Amino acid sequence: KLLLTFVVCRLISTVGLAIDNYGAGHPVRRIDQGVFNGELSYDTSDIEKVSVDFGLLNEAKPLGVLHPGSTNDIASLLKTANINGFSVSARGHGHSINGQAHATNGVVIEMSGSKGNQFRSNLGSLPALGYENTFLLGGRNSKSNDSKRIPYVDVWGGELWIDVLKWTLGFGLSPKSWTDYLYLSVGGTLSNAGISGQAFNHGPQISNVFELDVVTGKGELVTCSKKKNSELFNGVLGGLGQFGIITRARIALEPAPQRVRWIRVLYSNFSTFTNDQEYLISLHGKPSSEKFDYVEGFVIVDEGLINNWRSSFFSPKNPVKISSINGSDGGVLYCLEITRNYDDSTANSIDQEIEALLEKLDFIPSSVFTTDLPYVDFLDRVHKAELKLRSKGLWEVPHPWLNLLVPKSRIADFDKGVFKGILGNKTSGPILIYPMNKNKWDDQSSVVTPNEDIFYLVGLLRSALDSGEETQKLDYLKDQNRQILKFCDESGIRVKRYLPGYKTQDEWKAHFGDRWGQFLKRKNEFDPMRILATGQHIFKPSF
Ligand code: FAD
Repeated sequence: KLLLTFVVCRLISTVGLAIDNYGAGHPVRRIDQGVFNGELSYDTSDIEKVSVDFGLLNEAKPLGVLHPGSTNDIASLLKTANINGFSVSARGHGHSINGQAHATNGVVIEMSGSKGNQFRSNLGSLPALGYENTFLLGGRNSKSNDSKRIPYVDVWGGELWIDVLKWTLGFGLSPKSWTDYLYLSVGGTLSNAGISGQAFNHGPQISNVFELDVVTGKGELVTCSKKKNSELFNGVLGGLGQFGIITRARIALEPAPQRVRWIRVLYSNFSTFTNDQEYLISLHGKPSSEKFDYVEGFVIVDEGLINNWRSSFFSPKNPVKISSINGSDGGVLYCLEITRNYDDSTANSIDQEIEALLEKLDFIPSSVFTTDLPYVDFLDRVHKAELKLRSKGLWEVPHPWLNLLVPKSRIADFDKGVFKGILGNKTSGPILIYPMNKNKWDDQSSVVTPNEDIFYLVGLLRSALDSGEETQKLDYLKDQNRQILKFCDESGIRVKRYLPGYKTQDEWKAHFGDRWGQFLKRKNEFDPMRILATGQHIFKPSF
């Protein structure tokens, strides 16, 4: 039946026919959505490309790959899938870890790099009035005045953030909230949350969207926002691709700064480090001259030089040896990473403002590392590391990443048990740690976060190697992830996984907790046949 579907789709795409019946005894109901503007491909190279992702941990082959030429192509495919019973997954840039964009024996829609020029970005602005109670003006209680307008950009769901940035910079504008790495698609990060060091201030990327066009699992194209079709809008944001495919996103912008002052300081004491991080994120409501624009941090547990792929910053100009830092005791160090954006109009005051902020912090005095660079270079910093790793053959390796949202009240226990315990001086990649303010997250969206006002992202971004030490091998790292989760479970640290890769519905129910009922209701409404994003393993298809 499925094969027939493909034959039919192929016929439609190439000949443009609407077909009532195909083949002896195999009725295929009329498909009248017209022809594909794009291409439904069965090429082995296309199939192989979408069968794996950045994680390189598992493989799942679809039967076909749609390169959409328009939103209608996506709607046609989804309607066909409902009638004939096959799964469909949007694939942004394939940077998931656990096969989340796979569609075993179904069709993968390649959202990024789509053909056709109907996906051009479009700029506009909206009056601020009316958005006082949303996150788009910086929180629920913020005030707007009648004349203020908020600029936005409309982009295709498969657009990469790096391209959105480059395009908007041409108009002196930029999105506000980012991920650390920009070669990710708009639809892909909005299906999770999209977080980085700006999230304490602006919220995650999903808190910075005005409006979406979504093709629901039923194949209906719906425009939605906080005010219109809000159930779909809320559901899709952080919705793990379960309710529809984002074809257009209207993203809030702000005037783009020209340059960034990027500072790293070290701590040997965990609570001093987290106190300072929490102090810095408490400044979110202050004027921009009185806070940093970005607050992140990472943990250094390896001996020797600080040289993982996120810290090239320190070397070769300023190599740092952990043993040379007073008080580190050869153990764990913590690095606070902060930035201030500026331009010509603020260049004169930035040194004093940064000095005043640094004076309030309690880092190791001799450990201040500063650099200054164009805004785009800062935002695109991880890509530089990517190019280096690629040149050494170290990018396309398995990535058993573990990302956790840890409640503030238990972060010290996590430090003791994991950074100073389970990891045992070996990391195999950067370990990010930074706090965020829960009040910048919309509890109507599909994302679940810990039940505290402040929670930390802890990202163990490991790369596995076949050769070398045992502690770098895939099985070792996967086992360590299991130990970390077991430790949290047994110690009652109620973490939520970010970018989770569960395999059973029971695990998903536990993940969503009391939000599961809402998630299920949305699924029944927008994708009743459960054809979408089956690679997430949340629902089994109904065919
Ligand atoms: P894909 O992996 O292609 O898809 C992810 C999920 O979204 C799938 O279920 C897919 O079906 C669905 N989906 C994709 N496009 C659409 C669409 N248009 N409509 C509906 N559903 C869709 N995340 C952060 O938050 N912050 C970071 O700093 C960060 N850094 C990263 C750095 C690297 C090097 C990597 C590999 C990942 C990083 N991530 C980060 C994680 C990343 O945000 C997610 O893995 C994201 O899903 C990747 O986007 P993608 O476009 O590759 O999505």
